[in-house]
Amino acid sequence: MADRKPIESWLTDMDGVLIHEGVPIPGADAFLKKLRDSGRPFLVLTNNSIYTARDLHARLRRMGLDVPVDNIWTSALATAQFLDDQRPGGSAYVIGEAGLTTALHDIGYILTDHEPDFVILGETRTYSFEALTKAVRLINDGARFIATNPDNVGPSTEGDLPATGSVAALITAATGKKPYFVGKPNPLMMRAGLNAIGAHSETSAMIGDRMDTDVLAGLEAGMRTFLVLSGVTQPVDVDRYPFRPSEVVDSIADLVDLV
Ligand SMILES: [Mg+2]
Repeated sequence: MADRKPIESWLTDMDGVLIHEGVPIPGADAFLKKLRDSGRPFLVLTNNSIYTARDLHARLRRMGLDVPVDNIWTSALATAQFLDDQRPGGSAYVIGEAGLTTALHDIGYILTDHEPDFVILGETRTYSFEALTKAVRLINDGARFIATNPDNVGPSTEGDLPATGSVAALITAATGKKPYFVGKPNPLMMRAGLNAIGAHSETSAMIGDRMDTDVLAGLEAGMRTFLVLSGVTQPVDVDRYPFRPSEVVDSIADLVDLV
């Protein structure tokens, strides 16, 4: 580590790092306070596209964690920024919740089911057969297929929930078209996040609880990576991957002194 530049900016995953099943992970509050006090650029990332940054700020606040709205980066925001770069002022048919539709409205997108440029799939708990049928037909008619994140399942206190990746697979089966996934592990989400806070990859670190998304995305974006064992990845899993994080620690509490 001695040959590496000091860490000046931090990106951290949310679920499994800062919170777990609606409860803060010990050390998360201290870590966030240190970041806020230090004035260092940082972002809390989530692949979940249901909520707006404002929603997430309020949800975290209720759990006792203070993350300013501007320090929250969702796959919905990353998707909107990607589309704003690719095709400014475009149109889209959207399956998703306020996190996604608000982000698209904010970049001036028109949401329509009439000849949209894109079909954009995000996380929702109310998939309708009618909406899926509409998406399939619009893609068959030439709309480009984008999905906020590739996660096949999401966490809940009662067990796994089918997530965006699983629904994307259904649409792919029906159309023969695969979506472009914007969220983790696509390093695009990390690079766009770094740009949003004016940070550089060589002096930034990514913290996550998953090897296959957080660590992979951080690695491919050229960042230092910290794997925490407070979430999905178990110690026995780490060696099964052909890549490794810069460091493995028990939890966020072990990183407070690095800020
Ligand atoms: Mg996680």
